[in-house]
Amino acid sequence: MTTADTTTRFTTESLLTAIQPESGGRDILDPATGELVGQVGQPGRPELDAAVATAVSAQRDWADLGDAERRRLLNRAADAVEANAEALAVLLSREQGKPLNGPNARFEVGACASWLRATADFDLEPETVVDDGQTFAQLHYRPLGVVGAIGPWNWPMMISVWQLAPALRMGNAVVMKPSSYTPLSVLALAEVLNTVLPTGVLQVVAGRGGLGEALSTHPDVAKIMFTGSTPTGKSIIRSSADTVKRITMELGGNDAGIVLPDADPKAIAEGLFWGAFINTGQTCAALKRLYVHADIYDAVCEALTEFAASVPMGIGLDETNELGPLQNEAQFDIVDGLVESAKNAGARILLGGDPDRDATGYFYPTTLVADIDPQNPLVVEEQFGPALPLVKYSDVDEAVRMANSLETGLGSSVWGTDRNAAAAVAARLEAGTTWINSHGGVDPRIPFGGAKQSGYGLEFGVHGLKQLAQPHVIVG
Ligand code: NDP
Repeated sequence: MTTADTTTRFTTESLLTAIQPESGGRDILDPATGELVGQVGQPGRPELDAAVATAVSAQRDWADLGDAERRRLLNRAADAVEANAEALAVLLSREQGKPLNGPNARFEVGACASWLRATADFDLEPETVVDDGQTFAQLHYRPLGVVGAIGPWNWPMMISVWQLAPALRMGNAVVMKPSSYTPLSVLALAEVLNTVLPTGVLQVVAGRGGLGEALSTHPDVAKIMFTGSTPTGKSIIRSSADTVKRITMELGGNDAGIVLPDADPKAIAEGLFWGAFINTGQTCAALKRLYVHADIYDAVCEALTEFAASVPMGIGLDETNELGPLQNEAQFDIVDGLVESAKNAGARILLGGDPDRDATGYFYPTTLVADIDPQNPLVVEEQFGPALPLVKYSDVDEAVRMANSLETGLGSSVWGTDRNAAAAVAARLEAGTTWINSHGGVDPRIPFGGAKQSGYGLEFGVHGLKQLAQPHVIVG
């Protein structure tokens, strides 16, 4: 019998049925239509404590299984995601709002499977650090115990896998606390993964009202993987202090892109667009402020506007759409407020900027804003939505200074025809990653993390595995 024959298959409806609470649930509504997607239970501190206790006991057997078996099971988990890809993508689209098509829901579910497989593939052997005939010292990587994973609402499935896959691979058990905006996506993903994982190694406690804080102060949780906003990250750092938890912080960004004078505006327009507008701009490492040299400013504005105007926005389940609504009203209000601040300051709207505030769904139109002051709030604050400011500059040093002027430093990018010249500018940018002639593409083999207040700790690759392990040196 093949693996595929033994894989459990769900429909979106059967997944939703499996994760519905018996009673007392909270409604989760589709951000595009306002329709009910499903209900989520409202677990509190007792349920969290029970989940952590289960994880503590499941983790011992999981660690004892050994690395080879855990690698095999992560590949089986990837099989399970692939076998249920469409059911997961439809649920994700309905709850998060992102379209099925384009670099959105199907893409996100596909990334979950790829990250599981890649995380199973990396080799991490004990490292011999000294072997000189007199001293023999080896560095081993042991499980930490129980890992708490706290995630955001923008890429709820993919970011969950970024957290859980390395944690499980290294022999830890995981308790997840998803965003209260997108709990069903994470519960459904775990339902699928748990068709192949041993009981208790992966659990989801999808509650709100202090549950994230309870997880980050819990004495039986060894590490917190956190992806979310910088203010919440700071609060987790504080609440984890008493138990000296290990923490990985993937926080907000306000990524700059610099377009050099030798760039070809038409050739880079599509890359600039998706760098900024992937997931309708609700992406941590999206391009959020673009500095364009005066010599080609008008041509870049024109080429970007032409491309942006051609990308359809609408309800996620409609296959024609590649941009969706904002996930929630609070985010709509942030984007709306920032674009208004730009308009009030006299910036020029190239496209969009005129939402229908009475329409159903949190749709904010694709918006490009030119001739904007570099200190305008739309430039210096994270919009996390489909509104890109284009700042004109005339001196590359000035562009580098503006790009580096904020407290955040997640990603950044440099765009130009001369690759070496672009790389020289890239080297001067303060960010965890700088892309040349693209923005925001992540790869499970390439370490990813923030500079400055965008966080610390690396994810992905062998570097990422090490963050989910207790280093243990044996000497002698
Ligand atoms: P939030 O920080 O508001 O929430 C993230 C998670 O933290 C949620 O699960 C939330 O639960 C939980 N939480 C809230 N308060 C606490 C607390 N005191 N202690 C522990 N957990 C808590 O972020 P968003 O969901 O709004 O995500 C958007 C932000 O995340 C953006 O700023 C974006 O840049 C950033 N982000 C960063 C990424 C990166 O890789 N660096 C990737 C994706 C997003 P609840 O929902 O119940 O409040």
